[in-house]
Amino acid sequence: MILRLKRGGGPAEIQALRSRIESEGLRVYQSPECLRPILAIVDKVPEALAADLLQSPQIEETTQPKTAWRLVAREFRDSRTQIDLGGVRIGDDTVVVIAGPCSVEGRDLIEETARSVADSGAHILRGGAFKPRTSPYAFQGFGVEGLRQLKDAGEKFGMPVVTEIMDAADVPAFVDHDIDCLQIGARNMQNFRLLKAVAVAGRPVLLKRGLSSTVEEWLYAAEYLAAGGCHDIILCERGIRTFETATRNTLDLTVLPLLAELTHLPVIVDPSHAAGIARLVAPLSRASIAAGAAGVAVEVHPRPHEARSDGPQALLPGELTGVVADARIQAAISGRQLA
Ligand code: PEP
Ligand code: MN
Repeated sequence: MILRLKRGGGPAEIQALRSRIESEGLRVYQSPECLRPILAIVDKVPEALAADLLQSPQIEETTQPKTAWRLVAREFRDSRTQIDLGGVRIGDDTVVVIAGPCSVEGRDLIEETARSVADSGAHILRGGAFKPRTSPYAFQGFGVEGLRQLKDAGEKFGMPVVTEIMDAADVPAFVDHDIDCLQIGARNMQNFRLLKAVAVAGRPVLLKRGLSSTVEEWLYAAEYLAAGGCHDIILCERGIRTFETATRNTLDLTVLPLLAELTHLPVIVDPSHAAGIARLVAPLSRASIAAGAAGVAVEVHPRPHEARSDGPQALLPGELTGVVADARIQAAISGRQLA
């Protein structure tokens, strides 16, 4: 049940209301918005309490969300979530571009790539240090050393960084290296212990859609983060597995207008992992922004044929510049602007 309180209620009144609900053994969460507080009771509300709450002078309106998730439901916020990712805003009326190699492959290469990302006008640097690879014999990433190299490259060129975390035990290393945003990869979207551990890291989280996950499962995964105390969640559509084999995955752009109804969280698109083919990335980026994405995340490599992972989908630096230029145009067409 979601309770919209009247404007102007003081913290003591809100606390009294929360205590009343909690005294019945129910869990209640408060929306981070402060003008008109919103409370969400995530457990089933007994009829007597529901009737009681309806009478409460503090409460303007109670709603039963149509969906089973609560804290990420559109109804839980008056306005859409805006996130400060290391100084770059996501989810306002701007469009962001995240770019970088699939994997951090060494200090020189990440610096060379970061320079081209910064030159292209993109905003945030990506690169995997812990790589989820299908084969145990494939390059697994440089681990903590990769985090260090990525962060140093980001600092050198003035960009915040995002990188994937695969193990709950690594949270302290990500925080110690001041990683600006923790990515939950598609393969780990339903790794609930990882979600709980990342939720308390105090950093924005980029939550990729699982390989074969429904929108509902994806939002439940986001709800794990929110229930764990993380409000800065960015959803990332990266293609889903279908019968189609001509592309690596099938990009599901339907989720963009749909999620705008279902959740207050910003949604970005990763066309690189969706297509798996570099030449498809630019048109899919344009389509994503046209359909309302808050940004795109793309892979780039100075020499894709030498990349240690995902070379076939990596843009060349010049192609990335084109994607950013297109993003600017598409943003303007939809009444927004490039971040
Ligand atoms: C990645 O971003 O490098 C990655 C492995 O993506 P995904 O989890 O979407 O496959
Ligand atoms: Mn990749």
